[in-house]
Amino acid sequence: MATPDPSHVRSRSFWLETCDDDLTPRPGPDGDTSADVAIVGGGLTGLWTALALRASAPHCRIAVLEAEVCGFGASGRNGGWCSALFPASLDQLAMVGGRDAAVAQYRAMIDTVAEVGRTMERLGIDCHWAQGGTLTLATNPAHVERIRAHVTEQHRWGFDSSDDRWLTPAETMARARVTGSVGSAFTPHCAAVHPARMVRGLARAVEAAGVSVHEGTRVHRIEPGAVTTDHGTVRADTVLRCTEGYTPGLPGHGREVVPIYSMMIATEPLSADVWEQIGLRERETFADGRHLLIYGQRTADGRFAFGGRGAPYHFGSAIKDAYDREGRVAAELARVLHELFPITRDARITHHWGGPLAVPRDWSASVGLDRSTGLGWAGGYVGDGVSTTNLAGRTLADLVLGHDSDLTRLPWVGHHSPRWEPEPLRWIGINAGRSVAAAADRREARRRRPSPVLDRVMGLFTGGH
Ligand SMILES: Cc1cc2nc3c(=O)[nH]c(=O)nc-3n(C[C@H](O)[C@H](O)[C@H](O)COP(=O)(O)OP(=O)(O)OC[C@H]3O[C@@H](n4cnc5c(N)ncnc54)[C@H](O)[C@@H]3O)c2cc1C
Repeated sequence: MATPDPSHVRSRSFWLETCDDDLTPRPGPDGDTSADVAIVGGGLTGLWTALALRASAPHCRIAVLEAEVCGFGASGRNGGWCSALFPASLDQLAMVGGRDAAVAQYRAMIDTVAEVGRTMERLGIDCHWAQGGTLTLATNPAHVERIRAHVTEQHRWGFDSSDDRWLTPAETMARARVTGSVGSAFTPHCAAVHPARMVRGLARAVEAAGVSVHEGTRVHRIEPGAVTTDHGTVRADTVLRCTEGYTPGLPGHGREVVPIYSMMIATEPLSADVWEQIGLRERETFADGRHLLIYGQRTADGRFAFGGRGAPYHFGSAIKDAYDREGRVAAELARVLHELFPITRDARITHHWGGPLAVPRDWSASVGLDRSTGLGWAGGYVGDGVSTTNLAGRTLADLVLGHDSDLTRLPWVGHHSPRWEPEPLRWIGINAGRSVAAAADRREARRRRPSPVLDRVMGLFTGGH
């Protein structure tokens, strides 16, 4: 059993490097042990679940088992959007539970953003919270079409301009001086955060609440009533799997989700003069209308933290440290950032990193507990987990404690996504989908209309999401 090296963990992201926590691993269990609830994975899902369980059941004995240190995974590396975005469309949710249930799920996400903000304040975790909303920028006619259609669609479901609205080019420029902007959509339901300060603060709060947090503790097998770790067996009536992109590494879970790498860069801090010209005064998070998603935020220390998809899917759902950096994707991210904000051209790119997020076959997140086996899970958030993990944690706690609540009636509860295809089909399909999305973006950037053929082919690999 290897003890995680803090300097290795720190080098996984700009956020982990600057989280003001020495990242010394907490000790593993001392041989065989027992708990009421064993939680596998010390990311946001595992920690929010432990916090919610302990709040409702102060005597519940909970063990969090983390292979590296809490926040090592996506939770310590992400774009820091604490948003109301939910990883399944309203149409998908309505097919499961009907229209009202779909809307309830999206409303629960809006409430969750506020809940996360309140909890950070209550726990005294300074995660650099700034709820400035999100701008989805349009820089070509295809973007305008897609983004406006999204706003119209949200309104058709009963959301209104206080949730999503179209901003004219002038209104957009008043918020962010983006080259070539022809408008944007704005939603207030998103906060920019420092994700590693959030997840590491949460680990400390969970421990202070009486939860046993074991780091450097890899789980090799999950079965009803028991978890096998490299420190011994943990016996528990309830075992919750909160391993997100790493799930395929557990025996029996190889095709449940695929790990897709999202990559990021950070610039050096920019001067106040430069920010005066750029805008983003309220630290609005931003994306645009392309298929291969990009996302950014203005950090509390005045940098751009900017990310995007586009890294290859690795055969057999492999995860390796070497995949955390992709020179080609980093260069492309820098190019897009310079294109959107040319004034950043002279700024040094000081950091580049990435990490695996989890994509289920139908791109729909889920949470559930099988009462007959005591095995539960939450995940499949695609790129929308920062706030969704909080909703998942509160829901899992209600499920474990047998509480029938508004949360346990939401349509994602108990949803089972189909499994991914075996290799090599999976590798061929996902990487082909990525190439098609990139081709569609290049075509649209040349101001050509979206191609229905490309859109249809992409839908085969993205569940239309
Ligand atoms: C680059 C990037 C950018 C992103 N940007 C955003 C964003 O801006 N907004 C947003 O909402 N979402 C974003 N996401 C997604 C979001 O970060 C995740 O959905 C969320 O952090 C998932 O939390 P989690 O706890 O489920 O998983 P993770 O944080 O991945 O935690 C899983 C943990 O399980 C541990 N583990 C795995 N296997 C084992 C095992 N066998 N035994 C013990 N422990 C194990 C891992 O070490 C890890 O710490 C992004 C993701 C990435 C990678």
